[in-house]
Amino acid sequence: MKRAGAHVSISGGVQNAPLNAQQIGAKAFAMFTKNQRQWRAKPYTGEQIEQFHANMAAGGFRPQDVLPHDAYLINLGNPDAEARQKSFDAFVDELQRCRQLGLVYLNFHPGSHLRKIDENSCLDLIVESLNRALEQTEGVTAVIENTAGQGSNLGYRFEHLAYLIERVDDKSRIGVCLDTCHTFTAGYDLRDRVAYDQTMQEFDEVVGFSYLKGMHLNDSKVDLGSRVDRHESLGKGKLGIELFEFIMQDERMDEMPLILETVDADLWPQEIAMLYGFVEPGNHH
Ligand SMILES: [Zn+2]
Ligand SMILES: [Zn+2]
Repeated sequence: MKRAGAHVSISGGVQNAPLNAQQIGAKAFAMFTKNQRQWRAKPYTGEQIEQFHANMAAGGFRPQDVLPHDAYLINLGNPDAEARQKSFDAFVDELQRCRQLGLVYLNFHPGSHLRKIDENSCLDLIVESLNRALEQTEGVTAVIENTAGQGSNLGYRFEHLAYLIERVDDKSRIGVCLDTCHTFTAGYDLRDRVAYDQTMQEFDEVVGFSYLKGMHLNDSKVDLGSRVDRHESLGKGKLGIELFEFIMQDERMDEMPLILETVDADLWPQEIAMLYGFVEPGNHH
């Protein structure tokens, strides 16, 4: 079964996220664990956690249907030790928040070298941060998102993801989220059947589908290989609509959160309905 949804608001508290997801016809969703523009936030109250569980149950969501996203401020590969520690602390806090909510994933962007160190040195810092963070927490899998490679962001090559996974001690708690817009603007074509199959085969060979825990479904305002991150509504960008049919008919993406981060939230109910329409009748894997 396919589980599509969107990155929904936590305005008023995280407990509202499952309600917001249910309202748009989602069977999966993403959310921030706290205000993503701030380093610190108040701990959840017992009442909030209880309400979150009740709303999850009411919406029919399981823990693995939720792909929480960490704050964009966090850079686990920051070359500056003090700044990296601040990111590390915030990352551990988010892993703990996911655990408190009974969730099993935390989606994050690998990090940026800020043009102060080379790519491999930065990837090594990210590995160090990740291993420490996983050691200090339990139960939550860190899900690395591939990036467009804008600025000095790493994670735009499948090899970067593989490099991190290889060096993470606890392989049972590391996963990957592929963002269709990022994949495309990082230089991997997905626009037709041949390109899709080739890119997915390359992903399988370099990273491995066993690590894929979810996807972000976004069209792109900008072209193949532009290394720019600009999402667009499905079918309105450079990727086109066919890709999303391929994904909805690809059983390798069954039972994982397929999350819209498209630009017009008003279109999410239609986009989700359209995605479900792409699932072939009789495809009940
Ligand atoms: Zn994304
Ligand atoms: Zn993006």
